[in-house]
Amino acid sequence: MNKKSIKDIDIKGKTVFIRVDFNVPIKDGKIEDDTRIRGALPTIKYAIEQGAKIVLASHLGRPLKDKKKAEEKGTPYDPAKYTLRPVAERLAELLEKEVAFEGKNMTAQIASLGSGDIFMRENLRLDAGEEKNDAEFAKKLADGIDIYVNDAFGTAHRAHASTEGITHHVETCVAGLLMEKELEFLGKALNSPERPFVAILGGAKVSDKIPVIESLIERKVDKLLIGGAMAYTFFKAQGYTVGKSLVEDEMMPKALEIEAQAKAAGVEILLPTDHQVVDSYDPLNSRKAIQIEFTNAGLVGLDIGPDTAAVFANALEGAKTIVWNGPMGMFEEKPFDEGTIAIAKAVAEATEKGATSIVGGGDSVAAINQAGLADKISHISTGGGATLEFLAGDVLPGVGALDDK
Ligand code: AMP
Repeated sequence: MNKKSIKDIDIKGKTVFIRVDFNVPIKDGKIEDDTRIRGALPTIKYAIEQGAKIVLASHLGRPLKDKKKAEEKGTPYDPAKYTLRPVAERLAELLEKEVAFEGKNMTAQIASLGSGDIFMRENLRLDAGEEKNDAEFAKKLADGIDIYVNDAFGTAHRAHASTEGITHHVETCVAGLLMEKELEFLGKALNSPERPFVAILGGAKVSDKIPVIESLIERKVDKLLIGGAMAYTFFKAQGYTVGKSLVEDEMMPKALEIEAQAKAAGVEILLPTDHQVVDSYDPLNSRKAIQIEFTNAGLVGLDIGPDTAAVFANALEGAKTIVWNGPMGMFEEKPFDEGTIAIAKAVAEATEKGATSIVGGGDSVAAINQAGLADKISHISTGGGATLEFLAGDVLPGVGALDDK
């Protein structure tokens, strides 16, 4: 990695602003999943051990957008949903240490921190300046700060005040340990993957994934497996009947172009051979697996079928690098999660046999967790959009802004 990390600099006695991703699900003031808080612990603990004065900052949800929506629709807006206070409490429990929370005089609170003390700011997105990357707000964030650390890979693809703007006002800007790990794994997959390299892409939208598909083809991934609703745009472009399955019609020419690019580059694209279809009247009872070519106009494809799961698992055999992003079907609705779970298992098996696996994106990561396979994956990326943009070869604003080694 050519970006400096927190371990490359001296932070003893320095006031360190750490941009973390504490955007966790909270219901009635209770944290439902603290994975992201735990993910930031290595960096926070390291900063404590080193005797830094720690200022933590994160966003939580979309308070201003939700407020505007609520006002337009005349529905209630509950500000209590957007405070990071429960997160500060959870963090204090995990660290067995006091975590001070933003009060009326934040400047004084930050100035009075001692070595190893922790202070947490309130939800950054409560200020419109955060998402607008407002220069004044960015400058305020940098007030009293000696060192900036970005440990929030999942928001690094957005140029916000806390991910990009602030770096113009702090002399030293480095990656946190979680960010460092992301950059190492994803950087290797992007620039010098061990081969064979197999990528698996799924989800609903081809349009979101075009840049990453093109980048993977350019970098000559060995095989590209495409599942999920995305596949139907390719099938329809090839002249198949896809029934009422989800298709992005305007993307059909692009799908054909991609297939031609892949062919020219010697990249093998594998599409599903069969799928789980329903007639839209009685979804669950009518579910059946059929070959793609037997699809008629009345059917909706909601998952890959068992043949495809086997073909895809087979394609992963012997792989040395695997990147997976996006579900193979309508993962949220059981039993249409079966195809995605089968792929989660296949990726875990291939990892046991020596592949380096990287899984990103909410649904794919959820499938891995649901199947209890998290510890069998080399790297679970904390990014969805950020991971895709990184693999598309883009310099993420929040990464580009960090100091080079
Ligand atoms: P994306 O945001 O593009 O990664 O897409 C994720 C969404 O795609 C999930 O909500 C899935 O339910 C949905 N999805 C995947 N495959 C299908 C399918 N065959 N039909 C309908 N939705 C699907």
